Amino acid sequence: MEKKEQLYEGKAKKVYATENPDYVIVSYKDDATAFNGLKKGTIVGKGVINNKMTNMMMKMLEKKGVPTHFVEEIDDRNTVVKKVQIVPLEVIIRNVAAGSFSKRYGVPEGTAFSAPTIEFSYKNDELGDPLINGYHALALNLATKDEIETIKKMAFAVNDIMKEFFKHLNIDLIDFKLEFGRYKGQIVLADEISPDTCRFWEAGTWDTTKHTSLDKDRFRRDLGGVEDAYNEIFKRLTEGE
Ligand code: UDP
Repeated sequence: MEKKEQLYEGKAKKVYATENPDYVIVSYKDDATAFNGLKKGTIVGKGVINNKMTNMMMKMLEKKGVPTHFVEEIDDRNTVVKKVQIVPLEVIIRNVAAGSFSKRYGVPEGTAFSAPTIEFSYKNDELGDPLINGYHALALNLATKDEIETIKKMAFAVNDIMKEFFKHLNIDLIDFKLEFGRYKGQIVLADEISPDTCRFWEAGTWDTTKHTSLDKDRFRRDLGGVEDAYNEIFKRLTEGE
């Protein structure tokens, strides 16, 4: 399948039309941003890793019964996906306290939860993706009640599958962000699953004072070894194949 006109350019990806009106091509860049675009940089090779990793995860989730937008990987940075209408919610699942949760609720990073949590942010750059609940999403017509229920169930199912998957790679899945889309009347998992959108900690380090991040926190927090972290995740993923 070939790229036609560019439809959209986001912070980390570009989207192109194809000859098939039901499909688009996503093209992954090495550009990295954090803090709502305030911090900008390049993570060399990130586009390739995020493309390939996302596709591996989507294929694995499909096999386990989660509908996704994935169609076909074209090459290192380009993938054909279903043209969905994105539900403007960032869906965040957490297993261990970190990042904005720790800040907001005054809970030290690395505090384990007895049950995973879910939260929604309204995808709106101008407002800085504010935290909202299901009632707000309904009031703002961002999704229907049924869609919100489906999204919650799918997000927790994805967590169960991914937590188990990464455990075998010696990685603790701390938290992650998902996005969903509407495709022919169905809610499907969309966007990406990568070190940009997940917190991965070296197994068993979450309850120590110093955990090892193998994700975008290395960029956000200037921890160094950013490319190494992405490469390490990808190495474990491909070794596990
Ligand atoms: N996340 C993301 N995009 C965002 C915000 C968060 O992919 O715009 C991911 C982030 O990588 C982490 C999880 O969602 O795995 C929870 O992030 P958090 O709310 O703690 O925000 P942060 O501390 O990253 O600002």
